[in-house]
Amino acid sequence: MISLVVLSLLSVWEALAPDHRRPTGVLRRWTRNVAVGGIGILFTHAIPGATLLAASAWGRSRGIGLLSGLPSPWAAVLMVPVLDLAVWAQHRASHSWPWLWRLHRVHHGDRALDLSTAFRFHPMELGVSLVWKAFAVLLLGGPTIGVLVFEALLQAGNLFEHANIRLPASVDQILRWVLVTPRIHAIHHSVHVHDQRSNYGFFLSAWDRMFCTYRAPSADEGPLAIGLGDNQEHSLLAMLLQPLDPQPLERTRSLTDARVSRFSSPGTSLPEGPRTVTARAPL
Ligand SMILES: [Zn+2]
Repeated sequence: MISLVVLSLLSVWEALAPDHRRPTGVLRRWTRNVAVGGIGILFTHAIPGATLLAASAWGRSRGIGLLSGLPSPWAAVLMVPVLDLAVWAQHRASHSWPWLWRLHRVHHGDRALDLSTAFRFHPMELGVSLVWKAFAVLLLGGPTIGVLVFEALLQAGNLFEHANIRLPASVDQILRWVLVTPRIHAIHHSVHVHDQRSNYGFFLSAWDRMFCTYRAPSADEGPLAIGLGDNQEHSLLAMLLQPLDPQPLERTRSLTDARVSRFSSPGTSLPEGPRTVTARAPL
């Protein structure tokens, strides 16, 4: 419900005040991105949708977990940042472990950013995420209200950071002390591998600051090219089959870097397609 409200508000904001040029083929983008995410939601959220709540209720009733001795309100408050750290760690692992990257690169294959990108996750990645979060919930042993609040904030954060919305630089600067803003997350979607290995946060920006992976846009930062630099528009079937591509992580990285350096040469430009956002905010 909260996600629907946030999605509606951000959709209006995107329409009225986009931060960067809207990608062409909006209907096709939305259809593909929402379809691939929708399959995941069906099989990993709608069908076993109560998994996290059941894990929380089961652990709590048996006094299992690190927070099981705390009163529910305190345990719920502590659950939110700890579960956010767990999601941050999974995201970081997705950029380091080849078999996780095979799933996660479907998300990074989007060559522009807008609200539809927030849906573009391979179903198996959503499945891995569900199992990982259920393990974290069991380990913590917090109340179900903590799970509900965390999931609502995580989904709202996911929509917000991918939205193509214009935020005054001063507001963005204040917000990103606590939250991951669209401008910060756009750096993570850059075609440059060293940018992809920064700003892993989905909700709180604290974890990237703490683990030295935080990168803010510099004052003279030019347009960012978004995607994997492979100049490919994937169909829904291609996105679903992409994890079967045996291309190892290191080869993907070197391919991306080679293409980026070629397109970054003087007098050349990125191949056709709306893939740029502008990081205009000073530090
Ligand atoms: Zn990522």
